[in-house]
Amino acid sequence: MNFSTEIRYLKGVGSVRAEGLHKLGIDTVGALLRYYPRAYEDWSKVYTIREAPLNENICIKATVCDTPSKVRIKGNKFISKTTVTDGVGLMTLTFFNNKYINTMLKEGEEYYFFGKVTMNRYAGREMASPVFQKAQKDAKIRPIYPQNSAINSKFIEKCVETAFANIDEIPEYMPERMISGNGLCPLDYTIRNIHFPESYQALAKARDRLIFDELFALELGLLSIKNRTHTLKTGCIIKKDFTDEFVRCLPFKLTGAQTRSIGEALGDMKRDEPMNRLLQGDVGSGKTAVAAALIYTMAKNGFQSAMMAPTEVLAEQHYATFQKLFKDTDIKIVLLTGSMKAAEKKAAKQALASGEAALAIGTHALIQQDVEYNSLGLVITDEQHRFGVAQRSSLAAKGDNPHIYVMSATPIPRTLAMMMYGDLNVSVLDELPPGRKAVETYQVGSEYHARIYSYIKKYLDDGAQGYVVCPLIEEGELDITPAEEYYKILSQGEFADYRVGLLHGQMKPADKERIMRDFANGVIQLLVSTVVIEVGVDVPNAAIMVIENAERFGLSQLHQLRGRIGRGERKSTCVLVSDAQNEEATARFRVMCETSDGFRIANEDLRLRGPGDFFGKRQHGLPKLALADILTDTELLMKAQREACAVIENDRDLSKPENAKLRRQVDYMFRESYGI
Ligand code: ADP
Ligand code: MG
Repeated sequence: MNFSTEIRYLKGVGSVRAEGLHKLGIDTVGALLRYYPRAYEDWSKVYTIREAPLNENICIKATVCDTPSKVRIKGNKFISKTTVTDGVGLMTLTFFNNKYINTMLKEGEEYYFFGKVTMNRYAGREMASPVFQKAQKDAKIRPIYPQNSAINSKFIEKCVETAFANIDEIPEYMPERMISGNGLCPLDYTIRNIHFPESYQALAKARDRLIFDELFALELGLLSIKNRTHTLKTGCIIKKDFTDEFVRCLPFKLTGAQTRSIGEALGDMKRDEPMNRLLQGDVGSGKTAVAAALIYTMAKNGFQSAMMAPTEVLAEQHYATFQKLFKDTDIKIVLLTGSMKAAEKKAAKQALASGEAALAIGTHALIQQDVEYNSLGLVITDEQHRFGVAQRSSLAAKGDNPHIYVMSATPIPRTLAMMMYGDLNVSVLDELPPGRKAVETYQVGSEYHARIYSYIKKYLDDGAQGYVVCPLIEEGELDITPAEEYYKILSQGEFADYRVGLLHGQMKPADKERIMRDFANGVIQLLVSTVVIEVGVDVPNAAIMVIENAERFGLSQLHQLRGRIGRGERKSTCVLVSDAQNEEATARFRVMCETSDGFRIANEDLRLRGPGDFFGKRQHGLPKLALADILTDTELLMKAQREACAVIENDRDLSKPENAKLRRQVDYMFRESYGI
């Protein structure tokens, strides 16, 4: 028998149970040994009946005093009771509907009982439905496996036991130097102890080794993917950096973070490999100026740039910004969006094809087939999480492997970003431009609505604009007012004298664009909307935001929303309306009221929700990790990173024969998520 032996040939399994195991993803002996316990029961520490702590899962060694007797209760149900003793204390055991218990527990025999001891006023100490085994076996730490309706944990435990009895030593795939160098234990010891730990120390060592292996394979995979893209050559190498000239266009001085990020990107673009870089910066951190600097240098080096925005209105806004910024230069800019007139589009396309225009700003219209570029060298996408990978690469195909620059406001802790975008380099704008006023944030209960409305009116009367944000609701939820309805209530009631607009996800794209444009132009004073404004327009005049049922929003989402205000001269206010009392919601509100630092908020969000939820349904492209947690296993992560770099340095794409075993590990891990 070996790792690839089919599971149905394992003694005691057979074809029916093999089907059940298959549903758990276990088809071979190897997969069985990689099916790790989700928890352990400690049978190694044995208590006496009197000393056993109450209400905790513990183990007691005791002798059965009498054969269990049945008592019928309601319907067909019955309970069985018996008494056990360890010579000093007495304890009652109860079992529910267990037909065989009187044949399984024999009078006068000694067993280990595992379960919770409770204190019953009349009957004294009691244990309900304990797990038990004959006392002659050695008590140990026992594995608990994730189970399904066909296969229970105990059966898996038996299978693993059988497998261990029938295989030879598990072969090591990692070089000895790496094992001893990082204080790890050998693979055979690891696999045996993750299933049947000799002790808790042994279990901890086994876990460390497996976590290291996971992170090592992950790092190795990410690095080799990175190197695969590195084999591309670009024809868009810049010869000279024109940033010094560019800053003269700016009405302000660049922040240190902006200067650093520009330098990092230009450094990439001087090489003969296409840049693939992510710029991460909180809302308002000044990503546009960084993009402008890169576009400027590209233009001066004779290359065109394309900047793609997720909405037409945002594209129009960028267009206006760049026109102003580049007005004293010879850089010609064209706008290209779907709703432009045919003649305008034609003129724009012509200017791009001839090379007359150095910058194209637009929506996905920029990557339509009929758009030709003369010398496309740089592609910038704004708010990348709204763009598909396919769209990005089709734009990239329009030049001679142009550089790609992705800008995102989603604040992700740096370590995580490095992992997620393993095939991207990352720059971080961790510094806001000076003089930014923090948005004052309050949390109030719904009884404050009258005051909130008059507060909004104060802002509107003063010439400012505002948002009212409603949560998305699931069908059948009655306790929350949907945005459409709330819009009616406000526009016909409290705000009948104001210009109120409605924006939500189900509207037609053209209608959405129209509403956003009206809001950007000041035609709409108060915008009632759902989260669609997350990636919205830049309206510096918007200074108040009220978020209804704020408990419905995640911390990062609240922060993203709040980023829509506080962009202008006015003092801005954000009001979180919620009657929620639960600890998690109040913790989120507290963080929101205390800070506007996007990275701190992202960290808090991770802490409150855990990385799984943090990314939610978003596709982050990382392989699933069985044991490792990239947020908390930082020490092992660093070790794994170091070792992976060392391996890759000698063998860029893991093709050398001595790394064949490592390569297999990587392929195994990445197969699902990358399809390789
Ligand atoms: P975001 O990162 O959200 O895209 P923007 O690029 O829109 O941010 O910048 C937000 C505002 O800050 C803009 O009005 C911009 O002109 C201004 N700004 C950007 N950089 C600086 C700076 N270094 N000093 C002062 N103001 C700046
Ligand atoms: Mg922006």
